Amino acid sequence: MLKAANISFGYTSKEVIKNIGFKANKGDYIAIIGESGSGKSTLLEIIYGLLHIDKGSVFWNDEKLLGPNFRLISGEDFMKYLPQDFDLMPYTTVEENIGKYISSQDKNKDKRIKELLKVVDMAEFSQTKVKNLSGGQKQRVAIAKVMAKEPEVLLLDEPFSHIDNFRKNKLRRDLFRYLKSKNILCIVATHDTTDALSFADKILVIRNGKLIANKAPEALYTNPKSAYIASFFDEINKIPLNEIDPNDISKKSVLLYPNQIKLAGKEGFKATVIASYFKGSYYLIEAVLNKTTLFFEHPSTLENNQKVFLEFIKK
Ligand code: ADP
Ligand code: MG
Repeated sequence: MLKAANISFGYTSKEVIKNIGFKANKGDYIAIIGESGSGKSTLLEIIYGLLHIDKGSVFWNDEKLLGPNFRLISGEDFMKYLPQDFDLMPYTTVEENIGKYISSQDKNKDKRIKELLKVVDMAEFSQTKVKNLSGGQKQRVAIAKVMAKEPEVLLLDEPFSHIDNFRKNKLRRDLFRYLKSKNILCIVATHDTTDALSFADKILVIRNGKLIANKAPEALYTNPKSAYIASFFDEINKIPLNEIDPNDISKKSVLLYPNQIKLAGKEGFKATVIASYFKGSYYLIEAVLNKTTLFFEHPSTLENNQKVFLEFIKK
């Protein structure tokens, strides 16, 4: 088990990681989400042992990790870290880039390289020099590279940022299935929440260096505690309660995803349509309810300035 206990850190006197703690089990996939600058990369670097912390500790199987000030080579052996700006050797082949991390004494070296290239769908490029690959292809090689010497913990920073959607879905499925089968704990910093929702065991949400949620994807999606959290998953409507109930004086709001607002009969709340956006399997309708702009899903386009009645479906 990996445990981060009360970690705080600042590059300067200003703390950018504020008292973060969490636990993760072998084979888990933990997604770290948060807006840019919230501290995701810093947290991964602390866990890996690249940044020294004065406050808090990281434990692996109850053993406290020493951190960079007490190790000759920074970075723990049982972990691998893929930074946001991954580096590969441009003038050597894909196969050599990955093979560099596997001992030449290893009888299974060739088999292992083939297996990893299959996971990232790069088998046909094994003899290609890295400099001749696209950005997304390089990123896939970089992912294979950090898995070469099978780690117990894998830390990935925005691992799919250069990979187009067409490839991304298959890569995510193949990669996370592979990591589960090998019982590798994987911690991924991402602001793309599709992979977090579909594959993560837990999602950690960071805001301004603070951990503000640590939950399983469904629980987090269904019951987001703030618009910040919900906005990672979808366009979010924050509707003041007094727009719905004129007698309400609580000044509170309700959070609704676009799929929780529907057209209703004349009993509903009256709104005016501003625009319809085609989204493939539905239209996202922008409308105004009194003073609040909101978005809802509808099977067809609606006319601009059309008056509609809406109902809210809170699960
Ligand atoms: P994220 O990965 O979520 O985008 P980072 O961990 O990179 O966030 O950054 C967290 C905060 O730390 C930001 O305010 C950023 O400006 C600051 N920061 C990151 N790296 C450094 C550094 N090397 N020196 C000083 N400040 C840094
Ligand atoms: Mg980052």
